[in-house]
Amino acid sequence: MTVRARSGVADRMSPGVASRMAQIADIGRDPVRGGYSRHLLDNADLALRAWFRRSAADLGLEVEQDGNGNLWAWWGVRGPQAVATGSHLDSVPGGGAYDGPLGVVSALEAVAHLQAAGFVPSRPVVVVAFAEEEGSRFGLPCLGSRLLSGASDPEAVRARTDRDGVTFDEAWRAAGLDPATLGAEPDRLAGLGAFVELHVEQGRDLEDRGMPLAVASAIIPHGRWRLTVDGEGNHAGTTPMAGRRDPVVALAAAILAVRDAAVAAGPAARATIGRVQVTPNGTNVIASRAEAWLDIRAEADEDVRAQLADTLARAEAAVAAEECALSVTEESFSPIVAFDAALTDRIAATLDGVPAIPTGAGHDAGILAPHVPTAMIFVRNPSGVSHAPGEGARDEDCETGAAALADVLRELAGAGA
Ligand SMILES: [Zn+2]
Repeated sequence: MTVRARSGVADRMSPGVASRMAQIADIGRDPVRGGYSRHLLDNADLALRAWFRRSAADLGLEVEQDGNGNLWAWWGVRGPQAVATGSHLDSVPGGGAYDGPLGVVSALEAVAHLQAAGFVPSRPVVVVAFAEEEGSRFGLPCLGSRLLSGASDPEAVRARTDRDGVTFDEAWRAAGLDPATLGAEPDRLAGLGAFVELHVEQGRDLEDRGMPLAVASAIIPHGRWRLTVDGEGNHAGTTPMAGRRDPVVALAAAILAVRDAAVAAGPAARATIGRVQVTPNGTNVIASRAEAWLDIRAEADEDVRAQLADTLARAEAAVAAEECALSVTEESFSPIVAFDAALTDRIAATLDGVPAIPTGAGHDAGILAPHVPTAMIFVRNPSGVSHAPGEGARDEDCETGAAALADVLRELAGAGA
């Protein structure tokens, strides 16, 4: 299956996605973890912002930063029913090159395609780079879009701290920014007629299908819970094995129960424990407490709840068998995000009927979806790996993605759109 690039021949004047990606390939490399570490307002982020401003200016776009650190590059005078496209420039610690930047680079490239083809939009087109999508510095994913949309309270955000104890407020001021500008900008959102985010796929669905592109049907629901197992702290040498109430052993059994419940829930279910914390965490000490953070995702909200109930029943039994106690705290629950069906269908039709696939990852597009007709385009990732250096995309698929995005912008911003 091929996706026709209608923007075609005139594209020779634009540098191409691969060469734009090469322009930022040395910014924010992580020598310890591999890949990239690019976090809000650190040196890498500032360098990427400067690159974005230069790249947009080269296309004649006018760049502004909104009150929440998101960058907007306008093609045409800012006005109503604007067609927005873009993604984010930050990464997780040790992340891949494509998650985020591919969407921003493709948006710039798509504008370059259309300009080279002589297209004149009848609605403004705006390329956006959202701030701190990964939440890697201040722990709040989609920070820029959450503040913009009013989903997060600016006062609570200002009090957040990074790993070095620097508050958001301090980091914001140190960058010469004014905390008074933080918060919802309903007028800005109301001025957007559509938002389309192109993103590298975070899975192997397209590789398995042998297709370069898809649209997103939905962001599947997910939740996070903290599991706390209390036992009895004691001496590792003087306490016999019989009669111990070791919360680490109980947690180990509970973690296996988490996996078993997910497997029992069927192939669409996901459950992960990627973080544990032991108190007091001493080599020669039977712990008094062990905590774990549980992440569950499934196709529907009720499937997540049902899987959680089964998980906790199994975990309770496992913990009780070790004579320890389990308590559970819900830290977040994100219901399913359905993208705009009419916009998604229109994009799929423009792209010769590419498939619609759900995603298990969060995106700024998911935050904007309740406010603006929103859709996503995914580009094939041969390894399926994401949030790690192994993430990738073939150059030809990236060029196909940018050409497809250009076709979508032409359709959405063209005469009579
Ligand atoms: Zn992303």
